[in-house]
Amino acid sequence: MGSRDYLFKVLVVGDAAVGKTSLVQRYSQDSFSKHYKSTVGGQERFTSMTRLYYRDASACVIMFDVTNATTFSNSQRWKQDLDCKLTLPSGEPVPCLLLANKSDLSPWAVTRDQIDRFSKENGFTGWTETSVKENKNVNEAMRVLIEQMMANTREGSTSLPTQGDYINLQTVSTPGWTCC
Ligand code: GDP
Ligand code: MG
Repeated sequence: MGSRDYLFKVLVVGDAAVGKTSLVQRYSQDSFSKHYKSTVGGQERFTSMTRLYYRDASACVIMFDVTNATTFSNSQRWKQDLDCKLTLPSGEPVPCLLLANKSDLSPWAVTRDQIDRFSKENGFTGWTETSVKENKNVNEAMRVLIEQMMANTREGSTSLPTQGDYINLQTVSTPGWTCC
């Protein structure tokens, strides 16, 4: 059987300082630093992104900081902004994971029930808690997203039947899988 390479564009959005740059560093280089400079200087709140930024993306990660309630509520705005600017060629929304990052810190400013309800109400593919710092659930969450994107490339496919639920990553197997 031949093998095939796929190239996917995945958006990572969310408020400033929730851990987006850290996520990309962790996933692509397996490194973590406490000292990333803010990517967009002075950007503290939700800002609508241009259509060009969203164009041709196959999936999205929306991230918030579990210790910061504002970043959680702003996730809704990020999701709405995404949904009105981007759909798959089939017209369906792109798979979008909600990542509750900095799960290593306490106290959390939101409960798991709140996150679960929010994820379902706002049409996320699913959600899970991550700690980019402790490398918790990062590869596993990205694997779920890749499976979704692969499923969406198959002809006549419909999205996997996840509807905002908590993604129990204990049940997601990773053997044999390597990343870039
Ligand atoms: P961005 O603005 O969303 O790109 O956020 P950064 O990736 O720059 O991260 C902002 C700060 O949060 C940095 O000091 C990171 O080291 C820190 N950070 C990111 N992820 C985590 C995490 O999972 N746990 C903890 N404790 N800190 C994190
Ligand atoms: Mg950044």
